[in-house]
Amino acid sequence: MKALVYHGPGQKSWEDVPDPVIQKPTDIIVKIDATTICGTDLHILKGDVPAVTEGRILGHEGVGTITEVGDAVTTLKVGDRVILSCVSACGRCDYCKKGVYSHCRADEGAPGIGWIFGHLIDGTQAEYVRVPFAETSVHKLPEGVSDAEGVLLSDILPTGHEIGVQYGNVKPGDVVAVIGAGPVGLAAMLTAGLYGPSRVIAIDLDANRVEEAKKFGATDGVLSSDPDWKEQVMALTDGLGVDVAIEAVGIPQTFTMCLDIVRPAGTVANVGVHGTGVDLPLDTLWISNIVMTMGLVNTNTTDILLKMVASKKLDATPFVSHTFKLADILEAYDVFGRAAETKALKVLLTA
Ligand code: NAD
Ligand code: ZN
Repeated sequence: MKALVYHGPGQKSWEDVPDPVIQKPTDIIVKIDATTICGTDLHILKGDVPAVTEGRILGHEGVGTITEVGDAVTTLKVGDRVILSCVSACGRCDYCKKGVYSHCRADEGAPGIGWIFGHLIDGTQAEYVRVPFAETSVHKLPEGVSDAEGVLLSDILPTGHEIGVQYGNVKPGDVVAVIGAGPVGLAAMLTAGLYGPSRVIAIDLDANRVEEAKKFGATDGVLSSDPDWKEQVMALTDGLGVDVAIEAVGIPQTFTMCLDIVRPAGTVANVGVHGTGVDLPLDTLWISNIVMTMGLVNTNTTDILLKMVASKKLDATPFVSHTFKLADILEAYDVFGRAAETKALKVLLTA
């Protein structure tokens, strides 16, 4: 089959690789019908995620059709169409029983699985993928949910919702700022709407993304390149700052920006994947009673979000800006990597 293979920082190619095979009785093989590219894939290509080794097939989002099932799989069958969760979970360990699937302790080559697709095992930017612990790691695609919507449920919708909105403890009436209006930040804005915030402020360097954010529930937009960006944000609050600041970029500067705008007793929810450490000025912060959260998506709310997408309570359709054939994935990476010029949000890759 063909797949997108990582060859070290800055290097990738669409090349022939062996077809995946069932390795354990709990595995399935899925033919990819649609996949996409995540900001995290760009971090990997920058060298920010050193656990990804040369030769790894990238990608952790996808919708596909089951072509083979392992002997222990009874609730899925060949021909079923499924959403592949970016987090794989055994469903049986202590963490899985608490719904913290991101820290599943099952051994899948390395102790502890969680986010392994396109990270510790071969991923979904390929014609076929092996899915471990399939029964507890995929969601059947209901009638009426498109492949494009399904792909968004693999990662960005649960990530924005769980690590941005739920960890951020967004409550009715809150003023929420989201720094980074990429797909993950936009997913946080969209799902924040489920909790009744009074304002959702989109903050980005990219004017197009700040504008696009209005389609995802942002009530206000601020360009972070404006010298007075902070004053603009403060003016949208009672002067004390936002209740919840969600970081959805993954660089020290934007984490610090969250600290700059959060009000005393507010919450900073970090969603971004960071490649370096950040300064935490505890000497000035300690007195502010700020809650800080961070984490890897658990995908414990995927089923809820899937129901809301299916019933059109959540409109995920504006996320897809470009569609390519899977074989044109290098072009798709180029377009996604130059989002400010190309106005790309999510690029859909179809078989
Ligand atoms: P993206 O690269 O598409 O979007 C990032 C956005 O940040 C862009 O719109 C960019 O213009 C903006 N930006 C960059 N510098 C900025 C600055 N100084 N001020 C304001 N905005 C700035 O990425 P994405 O796919 O939306 O992902 C966002 C982050 O979430 C990434 O770090 C990604 O790795 C991470 N992520 C985390 C999890 C998790 O489980 N925690 C899961 C998925 C993705
Ligand atoms: Zn587990």
